[in-house]
Amino acid sequence: MGRVSTEAEHLRRELAAYYAADVLIVDQDRVEKYRRDRAEDPRAGVPLAVIRAESTEHVQAALRFATLHGIPVVPRGAGSGLSGGATAIDGCLVVSLERMKGLAVDKVARVAYVEPGVINSELKAAAAAHGLWYPPDPSSFEISSIGGNVATNAGGLCCLKYGTTGDYVLGLTVVLASGAVVEVGGPRLKDAAGLNLTRLFVGSEGVLGIVTRAILRLVPRQDPVTTVVASFPTLIAATDAVAEIMKQTRPSMLEFMDRVAINAVEDMTGMGLDRTAAALLVIQSDEPASSSSVEQRTIANICQVGGATEVFATTDAEEAEAFVVARRLAVPAVERLGSLLLEDVGVPLSALGTLVDGVAAIADAQAVTIALIAHAGDGNTHPLIVFDPADNDCADRARQAFDDIMRLALSLGGTITGEHGVGRLKQPWLTAYLGPEVHELNRVLKNALDPRGILNPGAAV
Ligand SMILES: Cc1cc2nc3c(=O)[nH]c(=O)nc-3n(C[C@H](O)[C@H](O)[C@H](O)COP(=O)(O)OP(=O)(O)OC[C@H]3O[C@@H](n4cnc5c(N)ncnc54)[C@H](O)[C@@H]3O)c2cc1C
Repeated sequence: MGRVSTEAEHLRRELAAYYAADVLIVDQDRVEKYRRDRAEDPRAGVPLAVIRAESTEHVQAALRFATLHGIPVVPRGAGSGLSGGATAIDGCLVVSLERMKGLAVDKVARVAYVEPGVINSELKAAAAAHGLWYPPDPSSFEISSIGGNVATNAGGLCCLKYGTTGDYVLGLTVVLASGAVVEVGGPRLKDAAGLNLTRLFVGSEGVLGIVTRAILRLVPRQDPVTTVVASFPTLIAATDAVAEIMKQTRPSMLEFMDRVAINAVEDMTGMGLDRTAAALLVIQSDEPASSSSVEQRTIANICQVGGATEVFATTDAEEAEAFVVARRLAVPAVERLGSLLLEDVGVPLSALGTLVDGVAAIADAQAVTIALIAHAGDGNTHPLIVFDPADNDCADRARQAFDDIMRLALSLGGTITGEHGVGRLKQPWLTAYLGPEVHELNRVLKNALDPRGILNPGAAV
């Protein structure tokens, strides 16, 4: 024990010779906040140190040091991840990018040059100041960083029409495990030279390199939205309506909450949601003014014909935002019911009804509470399994439900994660999803870029 701590002290002294005192954190009280992301994994380790990098050079030095000493590195953005990708490992270096906040907009090329610590909402605001829009909008857009969004290929509410983070990444600066810096892609809308390494790093969850700058595509400002909110008496009526809406229209948002989620949000906000509804849909259209009201009418009509008990339509942005906020609050609202196992399974839209019904059946069979929210228009659901960690039997049933849902999604041609990433929590399911050959191919690429395996070991691949 004495020898171990002496070695740790020696390593910390070496780091202190390079990094300023406010960049390097070794004090255990201050290190604590960097041990977990929002998955709150109780098995999180204790880092050797946290480096709050201010530059690409700081990241390079950390990776050279880690490679030299064979120390694991856990890259960290804002720590809002839900799959344990930023969970610390004993003796690791946590490289936090939170202080890298550089941001510049080129209005002519319609691109933004963004350092990884910029929060998604900060980028949206900077783009808006130039009359432009950065569409990717995870529900966590006010608390998650661009680096984390790129590393998880974050999705969100408007991605059914506008795509995920990866669709906006034109170029990246990445520090590799060796400390070498590479620039892939660039501020060009078309680029057919070489393998698409930019795309390889998107969604790589910090296991291939650390992103220190992203060149992101911006688009013209979004047209004003029209909104429909509809309550349904059964889950199947709601999912049938989703299918019909996607068949007939092109909404910019199609969100779903089941009764457990509705009631949790209502407990938190008291905004007057219908507690008796089996499901609530929030649907928006941002078609140009000439066709927006037509699309809104079509959507409202589909809901009515589909048996909705209440259909509310508005063009008032503030009124609409209240429902969107309600949907975004679903995770924190359900968190108030107990600890959560948070799923992120997605299926082809034609299988959404079967998945949603199946999750309800699993909740009954395992006698656990499951709230289901979904970016329903793209088939990406978040069953939130509520459990009491002090009750072993309940925790076992929750884990069983987690596995049952994953199996169900796979049987429907679905994915184990639509947007949160594999992290550490879903890693055991990766072979079942990818198949052994493709999983091995993932590992071949990982080993080629990080032969000593120092980057985020145990996560993603
Ligand atoms: C209430 C709530 C709602 C959410 N809603 C959504 C949603 O709608 N859609 C969605 O996609 N996600 C959602 N999330 C999950 C989370 O916000 C996203 O995964 C987000 O992209 C993580 O960003 P972060 O900066 O917090 O990254 P972190 O949690 O710090 O890290 C996430 C992963 O990225 C890696 N990483 C971070 N920065 C870098 C970097 N610069 N270079 C290399 N690797 C890096 C980490 O090692 C880790 O593996 C939600 C989370 C919460 C708490």
